[in-house]
Parts: sequence; structure tokens; C-alpha cells
Amino acid sequence: MRYGETKRILVTGGAGFLGSHLCDRLILQGHEVLCVDNLFTGSRRNIAHLLGHGRFEFMRHDVTFPLHVEVDEIYNLACPASPVHYQFDPVQTAKTSVIGAINMLGLAKRLKVKVFQASTSEVYGDPEVHPQPETYWGRVNPIGHRSCYDEGKRCAETLFFDYHRQHGLAIKVARIFNTYGPRMHPNDGRVVSNFVLQALLDEDITLYGDGSQTRAFCYVDDLIEGVLRLMATGLEVTGPVNLGNPGEFSIRQLAELVIELTGSRSRIVFQPLPPDDPRQRRPEIDRAKALLDWEPTVPLRDGLVRTIDYFDRFLGETAPA
Ligand code: NAD
Ligand code: UDP
Ligand code: UDP
Repeated sequence: MRYGETKRILVTGGAGFLGSHLCDRLILQGHEVLCVDNLFTGSRRNIAHLLGHGRFEFMRHDVTFPLHVEVDEIYNLACPASPVHYQFDPVQTAKTSVIGAINMLGLAKRLKVKVFQASTSEVYGDPEVHPQPETYWGRVNPIGHRSCYDEGKRCAETLFFDYHRQHGLAIKVARIFNTYGPRMHPNDGRVVSNFVLQALLDEDITLYGDGSQTRAFCYVDDLIEGVLRLMATGLEVTGPVNLGNPGEFSIRQLAELVIELTGSRSRIVFQPLPPDDPRQRRPEIDRAKALLDWEPTVPLRDGLVRTIDYFDRFLGETAPA
């Protein structure tokens, strides 16, 4: 396959939130996309608009089982991402991260193709270094409720770097920070989808803890642009590269902003903080800026307006007649 030609690209987790946006961009670029997903948290709804497309193919498959296909590039995104979903079956979450990574690396090794890994800011755990640079090794509880995900993703990174060192594989590892936007799962319990749905329904906004914990929220289009730029880099770039928006907000500020933008009558109610909930998180993105000439462009307010619009339409479409 020569550079610039149309490629056949595998996206695992392609029916999920981030994966479906990635499929959209790759199709727009003229590529063929093979979307592999077991539909655990993803849905046909996310890819409904692509299903009839001549260059798009969907395969229902669990990445913990071997996959024998022929492709020119692999993006490995398969893994539930929200705490509610990844804690539903923690053993399966760890298997998806670790065995899924081994299978995608084995596939990439046989085909001699580039492979991208969707890693996460959770590899930093509850950090004592702030903001988090890629050189920070993290502070992760190995036996807690979040460990199936955090340690699974850490082990996947290890496997990517060992396949790179041992087998010369071309790897691209991105550490993705909290990302939001249209097609987030409505019941995944993540803060943006929860607050937006609660506000639109005039229900209580559930603030865990005192709301002083912070997160930095990246709009999905910015994130996907960073992912594509990382994949397009030369062999010398392996990552890990942080991808996220460095604008840091307390969860209380987020709640107040969502109430303002929806004009909701919702009240804020306080609920207990889940175990191992990180106190603060913000990416340092100097490496992404230098290597990819990338930084987020969508302010939280604008991204929230687009997300609110999506969930408003979603509620309209799914409301009982
Ligand atoms: P998501 O849950 O919407 O998407 C994950 C997709 O993977 C779903 O479509 C699900 O059905 C599929 N999947 C799960 N287990 C599978 C398996 N065993 N075999 C095949 N498919 C499987 O989550 P998302 O937010 O789109 O996250 C995508 C990736 O990005 C994940 O790897 C996640 O860890 C990573 N990530 C996301 C964020 C974020 O803020 N959204 C942050 C950091 C990392
Ligand atoms: N694998 C796969 N598709 C392929 C090639 C390999 O799913 O096209 C899986 C294979 O089943 C194996 C894993 O990838 O479990 C790792 O492959 P590798 O060649 O690295 O190791 P080995 O086969 O020697 O265990
Ligand atoms: N959170 C909250 N109310 C909710 C959902 C989440 O206050 O209804 C908090 C949660 O405790 C955490 C932050 O919002 O401090 C982000 O949670 P999310 O699950 O979205 O992401 P993660 O903790 O994995 O960064």
C-alpha cells in the first residue's frame, strides 16, 4: 500500500462513542472501514448512517477472540470506557484490554501494519503530579474497583511497547483524557451525559462529593483530529501522547454551566463520591503540540451546546409515542 492511497482500516470498538466518530472521519477521507464491535456498550444507532455505505462494513465480534482479517491499519478502541460499564463485568473488562490488545498486536504483526491503542488518562490513577505529563508513571490502586480498567489499560500499553521493541511493530499509543460529545451512551453514568440528560428532564443534578474535584473535557471532534494526526506520524513516533483539553473545571462548575445552557429548573443534589475517584485531572499536551501540531479548538461551552442539542433530539426520538 503506497502512501496516499485508499486504505482498508480496522476500527475495533467502532460502534461506540469515539469509534463511530473515527469511522465517520475515515470514510470521509475516502478509506474503507471495517468496524468490529461486540455491541456491549456500542450500538447500531451510532453507525446506522454508515451501514449502507459501500466502503463501510460492520462485523460483530469480541476482540478477546482471535481475528483473522486483511487490513492496512488498525485502531484498537474496543473497551467499555465509563466506570458504570467497565465495572459491570470487571473480568471481561480486563480481558478486553489485555487479550484484546494481544490479538490486535498479533494481527498487526502478521500483517506488518501500524496499530493505534486508545489508552487513557486513568493510567495516571489518582495523580500526585499535576497536570499530568507523559513521563509521570501514575498512582494506581491495583486492587480497587477501577483497577480492571486502569491496570488493564496499563498492561495493554506494556504489550504495545514490548511488541514494538521485540517485533519492531509500528505502534501509536494515545492517552485519552475525558472526552464528550454526541453519541455518548445515555446510561453510561459519565458526568457530561448524566448532567445534560438530568438538566433536559428537569431532574436533580447528581453531584458526587462536594463537586470540587476537577476534570478537563475535550470535545470529540478535537480528540479524533488528534488521533488521526498521531496515526499519520512516522515510525519514530510511538507515544504515549496525551490527547485532551487542558481547560480544567470543577465538577460543580460543570453542573452550573449545564444548568445555565439548558435553562433547566434542575436542582443540584449531593451524593457520595465513588471509591478511588481522582481528585484532579488535566493533561499536559506539550508533546501533542510539538509532535502533531495539535491542540483542542472547541471551548467547553460550545461543545456542551452541541452535546445538549444531540441529547435533546435523542430524547425526542426515543420518547414513548
Ligand atoms: P464506548 O463504550 O462508547 O466504546 C467502546 C466500544 O467497544 C463499544 O462500542 C463496545 O461495544 C466495544 N467493545 C467493548 N468490549 C468489546 C470487546 N470485547 N470486543 C469488541 N468490542 C468491544 O467508549 P468510548 O468512550 O468510545 O471509548 C473508546 C475507547 O477510548 C476505549 O478504549 C476507552 O478506554 C478509550 N477512552 C475513552 C475516553 C473517553 O473519555 N471517552 C477516555 C479515555 C480513553
Ligand atoms: N492473532 C489474531 N489474528 C492474526 C494473528 C494473530 O487474532 O491474524 C492473535 C493470535 O490468536 C494470538 C495473538 O494474536 O493469540 C498474538 O499473536 P502472536 O503472533 O504475537 O503470538 P502467538 O501466536 O505466537 O501466541
Ligand atoms: N460525577 C458526578 N455526578 C455524576 C457522574 C459523575 O459528580 O452524575 C463525577 C465523578 O464522581 C467524577 C467526575 O464527575 O469526579 C467525572 O466522572 P466520569 O465518570 O465522567 O469520569 P472519570 O471519573 O472516569 O473521569
